[in-house]
Amino acid sequence: MSSPATAASSDTESLSTQPPTVTSLAPSHSALVADAVTQKSWTIEDSEKLYRIQGWGEPYFSINAAGHVTVSPKGDRGGSLDLYELVESLKQRNLALPLLIRFSDILEDRIDRLNSCFARAIARYSYKNVYRGVFPVKCNQHRQLIQDLVRFGQPHHFGLEAGSKPELMIALATLKTPGALLICNGYKDREYIETAILAQRLGQTSVIVLEQIEEVELAIAASIALKIKPVLGVRAKLTTKGVGRWGGSTGDRAKFGLTIPEIIRAVGELEKAGMLDCLQLLHFHIGSQISSISVIKDAIREASHIYVELAKLGANMNYLDVGGGLGVDYDGSKTNFHTSKNYNMQNYANDVVAGVKDACDERKIPVPIIISESGRAIASHQSVLVFDVLGTSDVPREVPEPVDENAHLIPRNLYEIYQSITPENYQEVYHDAIQFKEEAVSLFNLGYLGIAERAKTEQLYWACCDKIQAIARQKEYVSDDLEDLEKVMASIYYINLSVFQSVPDSWAINQLFPIMPLNRLDEEPTARGVLADITCDSDGKIDQFIDLRDVKSVLELHTLKPGEPYYLALFLGGAYQEIMGNLHNLFGDVNTVHIQLTPSGYHIEHVVKGDTMKQVLSYVQYDSESLVESIRRQTEAALQQNKITLSEAQLLLQNYERSLGKYTYLQS
Ligand SMILES: *Cc1c(COP(=O)(O)O)cnc(C)c1O
Repeated sequence: MSSPATAASSDTESLSTQPPTVTSLAPSHSALVADAVTQKSWTIEDSEKLYRIQGWGEPYFSINAAGHVTVSPKGDRGGSLDLYELVESLKQRNLALPLLIRFSDILEDRIDRLNSCFARAIARYSYKNVYRGVFPVKCNQHRQLIQDLVRFGQPHHFGLEAGSKPELMIALATLKTPGALLICNGYKDREYIETAILAQRLGQTSVIVLEQIEEVELAIAASIALKIKPVLGVRAKLTTKGVGRWGGSTGDRAKFGLTIPEIIRAVGELEKAGMLDCLQLLHFHIGSQISSISVIKDAIREASHIYVELAKLGANMNYLDVGGGLGVDYDGSKTNFHTSKNYNMQNYANDVVAGVKDACDERKIPVPIIISESGRAIASHQSVLVFDVLGTSDVPREVPEPVDENAHLIPRNLYEIYQSITPENYQEVYHDAIQFKEEAVSLFNLGYLGIAERAKTEQLYWACCDKIQAIARQKEYVSDDLEDLEKVMASIYYINLSVFQSVPDSWAINQLFPIMPLNRLDEEPTARGVLADITCDSDGKIDQFIDLRDVKSVLELHTLKPGEPYYLALFLGGAYQEIMGNLHNLFGDVNTVHIQLTPSGYHIEHVVKGDTMKQVLSYVQYDSESLVESIRRQTEAALQQNKITLSEAQLLLQNYERSLGKYTYLQS
């Protein structure tokens, strides 16, 4: 390995020191190792670096001197809360974990930020029109959130985007901002289209975006029948490919949108019906979480040219809707890695505005009102999911007792290996240890090794791994198999949460979210863990975490202290997660609380209690009264047969009935 002189000398240094004892749990990051070597005590700055909170959390989340995560819901406009203390006080108000905390001020800040980025871009490029954003309701449909959003959006004439009939119902009833747009996307039937057209009579600026060629005819027919001219848009299938997970949203075979020949056909049909003046908007959406600004630029260029051509064809073009895709930097790396993005909101607004202006100026077409449907970028930061750790499961790390001479050959060999491990040979002896362990299992299965000897063998194996791991962590570079050792040796932290209900994208598409402890951040996290949820499903786990480079398979955590709470939180999960969750194992919605910052602290705006067992059971058609009745009958029969005492029967019934009205999660 060619390494710079400094690295080489520190390597030599580490060779000359004693191999670490098995009980030492040196941290894996080389920077942190240096701290451990110099015995420097852990600081909150170390935690900031480790969990990358500045990267993904600014300006909302940071760490205070007490070693707690704090939240500044108004961003850099001042005021902050200690998140750990907030959780403690919410718990005292009977709000059990897991708990979703929503900060309405963050939502407001995100809307203000997006609008001011576009305002700045418009000023910078002397763009002669305005920005009118809409929030795609599908990102988070919760009533309080949508109501807040409409209210915060009023100064900016911010509108809503509906992607389905039920979302149209929400948007129509909730949006009351004069001049704000109501963009109607998704698959449409006659009723959808009629409702969207009639919405004009209520003063809504509803735009029906034609996504399927069949919708053209439906829209023409509905308009003729109602004698109302709709505002129509077309969604184009761009050739520009989104990248990453949602890349399939574009291209010639994408699920939505009209191809160029179909757009030309739609123009023809509208013209024939005398409705070409209704066509005013061009829409595209190249997918969510676009990590690379160059993809956005390409899409803008292609769409702008289609816009210009539509105007030339005689459509009454007035709006260009650039869809969603504005990314969130989940790992804080500012790169085009799929969990990050290599641009900021201002770069995005600049490139949209400049790109549209260039294309229009070239062809002397007036520039359109720019619409974006940014969902993820607006809704992700506003909620924090807090959950507790129920316990851990660790691999045995005890220093082994010497193995006596009469013991089986395998434990004897393993003990020898254990004693011989050095920074020079750790890599090869690791494979020897694995081999002996595997051999022990074979012999056990053949009946040649007793269970006590197998137990001894496994214990020795873990002791070897522990020692090898401690050495590997001191190295700048280790081979892949030794990197896997971190995974194998990781503790399992059991979390009071259902990944399926609360972080579905982590399970379904391996999406990464920043996760970190809320407290003890002034203490070195000496354990390495993966998270296992309380569902009975082996997929109910989180074992991939954000890292500066790529992804890490274990998370640095603190060892639990008896009687002391240890809270973990998942950040940036405010978009999509809440609605896509499912009821696997019948774990229901979590408790949700809406917090607003006040000059003297905070105010609880709303509490939305999570599902009770009765509620989740009713989703699968169980009537709780019949369930109780069934238990009552069974206890009655058991009483008759003297199989249960009266007090046992009472306790059973009481617990059963009470449970039905309670939270589906564990109570700690
Ligand atoms: C999902 C979706 C959005 C939202 O995308 P984000 O990347 O979350 O901003 C916007 N428009 C359409 C048509 C969508 O389907």
